[in-house]
Amino acid sequence: MTWTNWARSQRAEPTWVHAPTTIDGVRRAIDRVRESGGTLRPLGSGHSFSAAARPDDAHLTVDALSGLVELDRARDRVTVLAGTTIRDLCALLAEHGLALDNLGDIDRQTIAGAISTGTHGTGLRHRSIGASVVAATLVTADGRVLRVSDTERPELLPAVRLGLGVLGVLVDITLQCVPAFALEAIEAAVELDAVLDDWMGLLQRTDHFEFFWFAGTSLAVTKSNRRVRGPLAPRSAIGRFVDERLLTDVGHRALLTIAALAPAASRAVNEVAARGMARGRFVEASHRVFAADRSVRFRELEYGIPVAALPEALREIDGALRRAGLVPTFPFEMRAIAADDALLSTANGRDTAYIAAHRWWREDPRPLFELVEPILLAHDGRPHWGKHHSLRAAQLAERVPGFTAFRALRDELDPDRTFSSDWTRRVLGD
Ligand SMILES: Cc1cc2nc3c(=O)[nH]c(=O)nc-3n(C[C@H](O)[C@H](O)[C@H](O)COP(=O)(O)OP(=O)(O)OC[C@H]3O[C@@H](n4cnc5c(N)ncnc54)[C@H](O)[C@@H]3O)c2cc1C
Repeated sequence: MTWTNWARSQRAEPTWVHAPTTIDGVRRAIDRVRESGGTLRPLGSGHSFSAAARPDDAHLTVDALSGLVELDRARDRVTVLAGTTIRDLCALLAEHGLALDNLGDIDRQTIAGAISTGTHGTGLRHRSIGASVVAATLVTADGRVLRVSDTERPELLPAVRLGLGVLGVLVDITLQCVPAFALEAIEAAVELDAVLDDWMGLLQRTDHFEFFWFAGTSLAVTKSNRRVRGPLAPRSAIGRFVDERLLTDVGHRALLTIAALAPAASRAVNEVAARGMARGRFVEASHRVFAADRSVRFRELEYGIPVAALPEALREIDGALRRAGLVPTFPFEMRAIAADDALLSTANGRDTAYIAAHRWWREDPRPLFELVEPILLAHDGRPHWGKHHSLRAAQLAERVPGFTAFRALRDELDPDRTFSSDWTRRVLGD
């Protein structure tokens, strides 16, 4: 059976797909792989652009391990099985008046997969999803069920918060939640220079600020999400459909097709797309504002850089694109989050801004990524583990502060490299 990821950038023919329904089943699957001398990669929902989940040999999916394990009302904590999707998790939390503090752009990932590559949203006073992990249970390569929390092997928590599926198979995860909240979303098309000149101010004044920029235009589409207590002013179901599917997805797909057929139209297409993307104001439950559907497939490269470096880095990218005559018809996305302590995190020890370059999946992403990546590396960039980049272990060791400490913990938990693949050898070494 052929496996492909969401972006169709990774493909594999797993020798076996283990789909355990119990923790004991996870243990048996690991035993079987070890007895055969093979390797195993845990799989979430396959939304990584990189080969993080691609197996050389067997796959293990925890899809069947989904749902609530325990709710700790006194501390606003929830324990869920690792294969629970973020969408289901948010629905479950909402029923209990709770929410996750921050989310990324979509909610199709499993919670295990999302934390394992460092999935983040935006908000300078808020951290990535993995930072809210306060405990987890893994089945390790030797078949042990290992509990990690602030009282059990606490030194492993900063590794488990972003573990790349190499420490063991996560079977449940405990998350620190917050009381449910609403977000007032304001989306507007404004001049790019105005955003770059006021970048730090916008981040400080807005709970969750991000912006998109369509190359070849001077327009930015800003998304300013403010935490509010007031009444909801939701889009109607039809309004949401028109916003997210018709305008953003179907309309964007049509524009991408036009630009692919007539590249000279790319700049004009970007101008139209930017104006169509700004959707005015609405107030909805946080998870409905943070995450949207994305049905147009794309490829992505994303780097974290020091927050203050973003305006200069983006202007350099603009200049380099103009010199190269390259007008990608998918927007760049810019966000920022607070520092965290996950060993492999792009935000380890520093507040971090992100620049993400996208390319429609039917177009070759390499010219764009090869142009953007050196600029972000020159700004002390650290690549997102779930997205495309060209770095290898030796280069990552110099850029990611917790790299050596993470490798030492991996040596302890998986000395025989049961959870390895070509990709793990490239980014972590043997
Ligand atoms: C349309 C789209 C939008 C996105 N938006 C964002 C965004 O806003 N912010 C952001 O940061 N990222 C974003 N991403 C990237 C995405 O969040 C990450 O790549 C995430 O890891 C995908 O989760 P998944 O469940 O699909 O995991 P997979 O891609 O299947 O796996 C990811 C990693 O998790 C490991 N893993 C999975 N399950 C387990 C387990 N049970 N135990 C141990 N390890 C496990 C895998 O081995 C692999 O290393 C986006 C991706 C797409 C396609």
